[in-house]
Amino acid sequence: MSYRIPRTYIIILYTMLNLVLFGAPGSGKGTQSAKIIDKYGLHHISTGEVLRDHIKRGTELGKTAEKYISQGQLIPDELMIDILDDVLEREAQGKPGVIFDGFPRTIPQAEALKGLLKKRGTDLHGVVGLEVPEEELVERMIARGKETGRADDNLETIKKRLDVYHNQTSPLKDYYTKEGKYMPVKGHGAVDDIFLDISRGIDAIVADMEK
Ligand code: AMP
Repeated sequence: MSYRIPRTYIIILYTMLNLVLFGAPGSGKGTQSAKIIDKYGLHHISTGEVLRDHIKRGTELGKTAEKYISQGQLIPDELMIDILDDVLEREAQGKPGVIFDGFPRTIPQAEALKGLLKKRGTDLHGVVGLEVPEEELVERMIARGKETGRADDNLETIKKRLDVYHNQTSPLKDYYTKEGKYMPVKGHGAVDDIFLDISRGIDAIVADMEK
């Protein structure tokens, strides 16, 4: 008798699992998030997507967000934290966990995330950091801009976004390393190889939690 092993399968989690997928703009967070969701059944929250949806719908928040996004700047922390609190309330209830993509981007946001999860009786279990050389980030974003028409994927805004990343976001690597939660992954090469490394990391986090 022959058995067919399914190509994709969902890992059943016995504990809540909350992860941050961390990395510079263009590091592949969106691509890898989709694979993580497929395998682990987590709920995906991309703050960039939430904001782009508001812009598309022409809401007041969308109008405010567009001013910052078009300049390659971050939405102010206080506003961004309120938005995340609201999304968690509406979307994350009863889910086996969340993969945060694009949040946190500053130390105050990381502190706030801790509080938002604590208030819901849970915690952040790990931070997967996609590490990609800068030249490749720029090439990827230029290509994405051409493919999707995404407005902030133009060279001038890309440079500003990378500056913002280095000044405001990259300090989070140290922050989470000190908390023992940062797990670097080589984020260039074949998409499936990168995902294999991410999966190994996540499986180790899950095994640790189930001890
Ligand atoms: P992303 O799709 O994650 O690359 O985000 C696109 C843009 O949305 C960023 O360049 C910021 O202007 C804004 N944005 C997304 N997430 C955040 C966040 N956590 N804090 C502040 N601004 C954000």
